[in-house]
Amino acid sequence: MFGVLTDSFKTAINKIRFADDEKSLKKALDTLKKSLLKADVHHKVVKDLLRTVELETKQAGIGQLNFLKSLKTNLNTILSAPGRQGFVFSSKPPTVALMIGLQGSGKTTTTVKLANYLKQRQKKVLIAACDLQRLAAVEQLKQLCEQNEIDLYANEQESNPVKIAKEALKKAKAGLYDVLIVDTAGRLAIDEELMQELGDVNKALDPDEVFYVADSLSGQDAVRSANTFHEKMGISGVILSKYDGDSKGGVALGIASQVGVPLRFIGVGEKVADLELFMPDRIVNRLMGEGDLETLAEKTSAVINEKEAKKLTNKIKKGQFNFNDFLAQMEQMKKLGSMKSLMGMIPGLSSVAGQLKDVDLENSVEMKRIKAMIGSMTQKERENPDLLNNSRKRRISEGAGLSQMEVNRFLKQFKNAAKMAKKFSGKRGMQDLQNMLSASNRQGIPR
Ligand code: GDP
Ligand code: MG
Repeated sequence: MFGVLTDSFKTAINKIRFADDEKSLKKALDTLKKSLLKADVHHKVVKDLLRTVELETKQAGIGQLNFLKSLKTNLNTILSAPGRQGFVFSSKPPTVALMIGLQGSGKTTTTVKLANYLKQRQKKVLIAACDLQRLAAVEQLKQLCEQNEIDLYANEQESNPVKIAKEALKKAKAGLYDVLIVDTAGRLAIDEELMQELGDVNKALDPDEVFYVADSLSGQDAVRSANTFHEKMGISGVILSKYDGDSKGGVALGIASQVGVPLRFIGVGEKVADLELFMPDRIVNRLMGEGDLETLAEKTSAVINEKEAKKLTNKIKKGQFNFNDFLAQMEQMKKLGSMKSLMGMIPGLSSVAGQLKDVDLENSVEMKRIKAMIGSMTQKERENPDLLNNSRKRRISEGAGLSQMEVNRFLKQFKNAAKMAKKFSGKRGMQDLQNMLSASNRQGIPR
């Protein structure tokens, strides 16, 4: 996320040094202008941003520091709009969020992502299935909710979305839910009938939030449609979906100031974990290539259970790390979302993240093989890797449909990894790790 934009900012910032002249400021501004326009940021947004930065930098004295400071402040301004940030809970639960947008924009996916995001933060969430236009819509939601253990209210006998919305709200209140998220129908283009339907649901629910889900791949059209929906029924937040597929990414920069409503979340992949909080000040740091440790820490702590983590460290120390622990670790990693988006939050790694092709660990051939192998083990074998003698290995290789060589290779790697982990979990662990890394650095071993 933001890889291309981050690179553009870095290039521009490097064009100007301490105690520099107007010529280099102009060069930096020109570079920035070109890349922002190329990234599909709206021309007026670019113009306003650069004009203010130029003025402020000149006033403060031309130099990299003042340029950077002004750029950060003004980026923050254009990324912001009056309104709430993040997910805000109503003082009187359930907090009701209405999801609206055009067909295919990502409403249903985002509804489930948001529910999952809140569930990870210990909230009780109910989803209401109010898209009755498409035949398969309720079924899609049912499957997604089932896979992710999220409660759903659907009523296939009912054809009036307003009624379903009301019933869902009743259930949410009675069931003491913290949040109710209402998925609605979309259209290919804005039409009166849809607006009427959404308006009726809106009136019946009086939601705390109306989130407009916009497809970032549609570029400036996303801004235009968000504007229309805002005029017609009032929205309190924008969620940009499919940001992972948008190599340009500029629409995220201008949409809040162009619509006058804050951008609250960004969808960065098809998986349920791929939803990111959009906080202007944190995003500015990321755009400057300074990472975003706050979001990373928040994400990790929401997913990782500290008690479990301690238990695991103890097991590793005692050399008892087994195949069940391994599978559990993989599940945890999945919850963190895509590698690429995580890398962008680590200072110094954001440029690497841009070049990285996203690794889909879950669906990789290696992961499938490993799962097949562990799947062919008995519960005892999973708990105690030392049990695996030749005849057991043979049985596992047959069960997993792999050669014995492949099974042996995996088991050897697993043993080595467990040994390494044990070594580094000791008191001197971090020091050992650093020594090893610097040694491999000296020898030029690629890491
Ligand atoms: P709806 O018609 O607005 O409910 O849209 P859906 O939620 O059904 O999404 C339409 C398509 O977009 C589906 O294939 C989703 O998997 C995909 N999609 C939604 N959000 C994202 C995202 O953030 N990234 C990617 N790559 N695909 C997404
Ligand atoms: Mg849908």
